Amino acid sequence: MLASHRRSTDIPAWYRVGMASNELQLPAGKRVKLLDRNAARTPGVRDRAEAEQRLAANREKLGELQYRLWAENERAILLVLQGMDTSGKDGVVRHVLTGMNPTGLRVTSFKKPSEVEMDHDFLWRIHEAAPARGEVGVFNRSHYEDVLVVRVHGLVPRTVWSRRYAQINEFEGLLTGEGTTIVKCFLHISKDEQKQRLLDRIKDPEKNWKFNQTDVTERRHWADYMAAYEDVLGKCGTEWAPWHIIPADRKWYRNWAISEILVKTMERMNPRPPRGTFKASELFIGD
Ligand code: AMP
Ligand code: MG
Repeated sequence: MLASHRRSTDIPAWYRVGMASNELQLPAGKRVKLLDRNAARTPGVRDRAEAEQRLAANREKLGELQYRLWAENERAILLVLQGMDTSGKDGVVRHVLTGMNPTGLRVTSFKKPSEVEMDHDFLWRIHEAAPARGEVGVFNRSHYEDVLVVRVHGLVPRTVWSRRYAQINEFEGLLTGEGTTIVKCFLHISKDEQKQRLLDRIKDPEKNWKFNQTDVTERRHWADYMAAYEDVLGKCGTEWAPWHIIPADRKWYRNWAISEILVKTMERMNPRPPRGTFKASELFIGD
């Protein structure tokens, strides 16, 4: 049976419990027009001060939840970050995940595939980077590049990339069914905001290192990227691995929103370290 036709009963019960969608979560199969979506919205929080305060509290909670997930050693969580250049994927890793223990955290940044990677199917390198039981995995870019940059630049024929949406849904169904909760976030910035951020990178010597000439050439394909993202969101927003559209023109909002989604998701997972199978009264440790 195709993953896109999975019954909701195939989804583990603990995952379904309380899966009340938050405001930024896109209902499965829903299509959006990104141009109509305001990237500067800040739903759920009053102002910057409140967002920063709540982000700090969430970081602590994430540290605690990660500790329990690691100790439980049964399930994993995978945060998938996608977005245009300068949308803040690296910023999220830096600002949201800092309270976690690096031992149980696995961050992978996907670049242009190597020759060896190109000799395999597009999911080969992705599957290898998926988090193990107990781990928090983060994908900075992901398998979605294979229907984004690859599609925009025609790096493979349409017949090849158009099959990938279903292949991705199937793959994410496999991970979910085996115990990995997938949280997908599209960092939505406006074209104007990207211009400001690119100018900052040029003007501010401290930020020069972030500037990349290819960001400017990619920017010329903005409309094509938005169309490709609309297909990603519409075709790969599933019940088992939904997309969130994060308004990302304000960095403080973006950081808080993702921290909140992670906290809520991990609280729902409610990881529980195993209890000892011994009787403490019968144990003798010795001198
Ligand atoms: P950055 O995220 O700025 O380090 O840039 C990484 C670059 O790798 C981006 O330009 C991506 O579009 C590119 N990239 C990532 N995955 C793929 C892929 N599967 N095929 C082609 N280019 C990719
Ligand atoms: Mg870049």
